[in-house]
Amino acid sequence: MAALNLHKSNDAILAQLKDSRLFKQLAYVNGKWIAGNADIAVTNPADNDVLGYITSLEKSQVDHAIEAAEAAFKHWRALSADNRAAGLMLWHDKIKENREDLARLMVLEQGKTLDEARGEIDYGASFIRWFAEEARRAYGETIPSHIPNAHLATIREPIGVAALITPWNFPSAMITRKAAAALAIGCTVIVKPAEETPFSALALAELAERAGIPAGVFNVVTGDAPMISATLSCSEKVKALSFTGSTRVGKLLLRQSADTVKKCSMELGGNAPFIVLPDMDIHEAAKAAVDAKFQTSGQDCLAANRIFVPREKFDAFTDAFATEMQKLKVGNGLDPVTDIGPLINEQAVTKARKIVDDALNKGAKLVAGKPQSVSDGNFFHPVLLTNITPDMAVYREENFCPVAGLIPYDTLPEVIAAANDTEYGLAAYVYGHDVRQIWTLMRGLEFGMVSINSVKMTGHPIPFGGMKQSGLGREGSRHGFDEYSEIKYYCLGGLNITGGI
Ligand code: NAP
Repeated sequence: MAALNLHKSNDAILAQLKDSRLFKQLAYVNGKWIAGNADIAVTNPADNDVLGYITSLEKSQVDHAIEAAEAAFKHWRALSADNRAAGLMLWHDKIKENREDLARLMVLEQGKTLDEARGEIDYGASFIRWFAEEARRAYGETIPSHIPNAHLATIREPIGVAALITPWNFPSAMITRKAAAALAIGCTVIVKPAEETPFSALALAELAERAGIPAGVFNVVTGDAPMISATLSCSEKVKALSFTGSTRVGKLLLRQSADTVKKCSMELGGNAPFIVLPDMDIHEAAKAAVDAKFQTSGQDCLAANRIFVPREKFDAFTDAFATEMQKLKVGNGLDPVTDIGPLINEQAVTKARKIVDDALNKGAKLVAGKPQSVSDGNFFHPVLLTNITPDMAVYREENFCPVAGLIPYDTLPEVIAAANDTEYGLAAYVYGHDVRQIWTLMRGLEFGMVSINSVKMTGHPIPFGGMKQSGLGREGSRHGFDEYSEIKYYCLGGLNITGGI
């Protein structure tokens, strides 16, 4: 078995990297790079060229990863918080040192722009630093006793082996946002990255190894998603499952995890409303809405899916939005002028086309955007639609593509009801100045995160997560440990509390 099957490396990917050892095509289990029984090609969404191959592990190898993580847990949890924090900080530093290589690798497999990829590397690394610091402050609490002569308290204990299953739209940060919390509190992890974007995950494993994270603590398994996910979610030895991805697969994993009563946290889909208030400057709001809609080519759980505008300002806003949208340049993510990279694959392009066709067939108006042609490949030019109705996919589904729908409204209660008219509840945007209106929206919107007058809302100190079918639990912030730890209460009775007093 080769330590690294470089013979299959694509020169195009290696030419982009200063450190070619970051490009791994094997799985990382118990501190070793291992091969499975078959290879799976990974393509560049910009041109569909094969970038390289990942290995498809057999079930027995996934079982072995679980056993290794369970064995490593005994030692890792026993380290002092300072020791675990030191290991995590080294990992963080190595990620920052290799930022440019990691960003280029991400552009090649995911398609986003180089600036977006650099931003994701920084964002992902920030969770490692945050949780390395938080590890030292994972306090319990003492409880005033209701039992005579007793001392009551809680401590926080790591839950055990955690399975982390992640999507392709944020191939690095969705791993570190989970792994940093899990590792800092003392858990060991098995990561299952998306098949489209495994190289970012494997590069993180290479850097974890260089940072001296012990064997078995951070593992990356690749291959058949249903088999690997079922093995992880059905295992008694895996105590927590953290998933980021579609609501459909999240529900499947919840069902699979029920028999072992696993602690599950779910970061699922979104259908974010963007609400412009009547007192808002139209041009400022349109610029922000374009930013909120088209980041990561619209393939973002936080993307503004439904943009609500006061009826009296609708035409002016539509013009301003179209003008801003038409400034966006579609192209290869490595080209510095690109704002919108390719969609992840052909299926994503087909879905985007269907969303536009469905809307047009049901009466929507195409205000701006050119029709997709065969020569565009996975590049999808932004589209602006009006005359949107709730029966259209563009309104109801998470569209995950650069298609924007604008909807007029008349009153605040009406827009709150419309914004909440979705099974999702991840994020919402509000743009305006009137404090009473903002407060009414902030309390009325059924979303886990409400961002007022700011497109940027996420980061390591905030509790990221959704309500309704957008998920369970929170990532980042001081709440991030909750998904990977148990609160143990103890009662120490029979004491002579008054002592010699
Ligand atoms: P996905 O299709 O649900 O896939 C996510 C992960 O689940 C991948 O690792 C995938 O593996 C695996 N998977 C797919 N089918 C499976 C099955 N039948 N059984 C077990 N595992 C399976 O989601 P995606 O298309 O990668 O990502 C887009 C979704 O993620 C969107 O809905 C987006 O909103 C959501 N998301 C949410 C957040 C958040 O924080 N709330 C952040 C980012 C993305 P393979 O790739 O190997 O098939």
